[in-house]
Amino acid sequence: MNGTFSVKLPGGKIWTPAFVCSLDEQKCIGCGRCFRVCSQGVLQLVGVSEDGALIPFDDDDEDEYQKKVMTIAHPQLCIGCTACAKICPKKCYRHVPAQI
Ligand code: SF4
Ligand code: SF4
Repeated sequence: MNGTFSVKLPGGKIWTPAFVCSLDEQKCIGCGRCFRVCSQGVLQLVGVSEDGALIPFDDDDEDEYQKKVMTIAHPQLCIGCTACAKICPKKCYRHVPAQI
């Protein structure tokens, strides 16, 4: 059977987990808020070089990249809490509802 997976919370509210599926790197300002609220190690901040390549982020090498962006480094670890989307000031995230 296919369909959306939902659970009833202790207060009676129905909640559907939604897993992270994409992040708009054009909109992302690399503020790191989403990284700080994700408890599952899904996200990783990287640098973007002049030619658009993603390079590992390092505070000591700030000259090597133009800007910082968040990436979905380990999507398989996502538990669907949507905290990242709620905290993002630029609305970068898309999530998909959990399925059964
Ligand atoms: S939905 Fe939750 S677990 Fe998944 S990436 Fe966002 S904050 Fe992390
Ligand atoms: S909260 Fe949004 S703007 Fe900030 S790093 Fe995360 S995705 Fe980018």
